[in-house]
Amino acid sequence: MDKIAILGATGSIGSSALNVIERHPERFTISALSGHSRIEALSELILRYNPSIVAVPQGSTQLLKELLEKGSNHPAVLEGQQGLCEMVGCKETDTVIAGITGAAGLVPTLAAVQAGKKVLIANKEPLVMMGAAIREAARKSGAQILPIDSEHNAVFQCMPEKAQQLCAEGNISDTAVLRDQFGIRRITLTASGGPFLDMPLSALHDVSPAQAAAHPKWSMGRKISIDSATLMNKGLELIEACALFGVAPADVNVVIHPQCLVHSLVEYRDGSILAQMANPDMRTPIAAALGFPFRLASGVRSLDIAEIGQMTFAKPDESRYPCLALARQAAEAGGTAPVILNAANEEAVQAYCDGRIRFTGIYQLVDRTMQRLDPEQSSGLEDVLRIDRTAREVAQALLGDRELPFAKQVASL
Ligand code: NDP
Ligand code: MG
Repeated sequence: MDKIAILGATGSIGSSALNVIERHPERFTISALSGHSRIEALSELILRYNPSIVAVPQGSTQLLKELLEKGSNHPAVLEGQQGLCEMVGCKETDTVIAGITGAAGLVPTLAAVQAGKKVLIANKEPLVMMGAAIREAARKSGAQILPIDSEHNAVFQCMPEKAQQLCAEGNISDTAVLRDQFGIRRITLTASGGPFLDMPLSALHDVSPAQAAAHPKWSMGRKISIDSATLMNKGLELIEACALFGVAPADVNVVIHPQCLVHSLVEYRDGSILAQMANPDMRTPIAAALGFPFRLASGVRSLDIAEIGQMTFAKPDESRYPCLALARQAAEAGGTAPVILNAANEEAVQAYCDGRIRFTGIYQLVDRTMQRLDPEQSSGLEDVLRIDRTAREVAQALLGDRELPFAKQVASL
């Protein structure tokens, strides 16, 4: 039995993962679950899946216990970040699914890797913030890192077995390994283009958070949905690809593919391009990683290519998606530039959802925050957390400046 801990069980990734896991009761058991604000939803998951450990934020244990009074199961309840780290590192856990959203997932994801677990990573922000260190931690601890972000899982599936093994072990020593040893010339990540692909640029100014979060093809949490509308999600994924596969930013290309059926492509030196296709449903990459190297049923329906008929691919228009160029700049600058980008983006998305800035202000706020701070070379956890905090403070100070063009006056909400 593979004992699974899910970080972020109450979210969209958590729910897709649980759906796949419960299809294979002979292989998997749920050992641990975490939730954050949705404690009632977590209590329902506990009653259904009977984990032996759960982790909640500081001060939420009492509420959880009250909710559980009705049922008979009483798992050990751990609290706070320390609780998340204990939950993933303990002996009751073999496999960890990292499904927390944002930088909040960094410390527990790193803890899971350091504890030598099999770690299925959806939570891209930790890889953006300190990908090389996470790879190095896996190499040292013997952890296995498997991507479940759909594009990276697609890339992984299109690689030869030996390359998959090296990437999963964090054993890619430099950016030439995939090229020299495996003939991989380029990775192409596909992007849907989000809900505003065809909207006139002048109208982007006034789109609402509800419109931005309404992804045309995928059903996901709010933050990643808004990142998909700005294409910052693809920018973060570019950095994530460099982290997971040890390639240089210049070797990662992005194309717009609104049908969301080809999830990414790997080009080889002989001119061959391998692509992975599937219906847009996270249960496919989750099942591929959970079963790796075996194939498990996921519940995802077959894709009928004759019914689809046509697919399109196009270069992204940088005037529509300036966040993509910003992320590429951060990837090329290296060091802690991606930490600054990510922190500023998290603050900007929150400010947009709170009605403090316009949609187009997300890019402006991230850009200005990046201009204010010089990236550093150091990539240790303490430094990364310090820079993350500083970038958020700078972004908040900029948000407080009502003279700035992206500020949205409360009266005009
Ligand atoms: P959701 O918002 O749906 O879920 C986020 C989860 O994280 C919830 O369980 C939430 O708990 C928990 N959480 C939120 N904040 C904190 C915190 N500060 N500390 C601890 N736990 C917290 O997000 P998604 O499932 O959509 O995304 C999760 C990650 O996976 C993101 O990094 C995203 O980029 C990535 N991803 C998601 C995909 C998808 O299809 N959804 C596809 C590819 C990648 P609660 O709900 O109880 O507050
Ligand atoms: Mg993705």
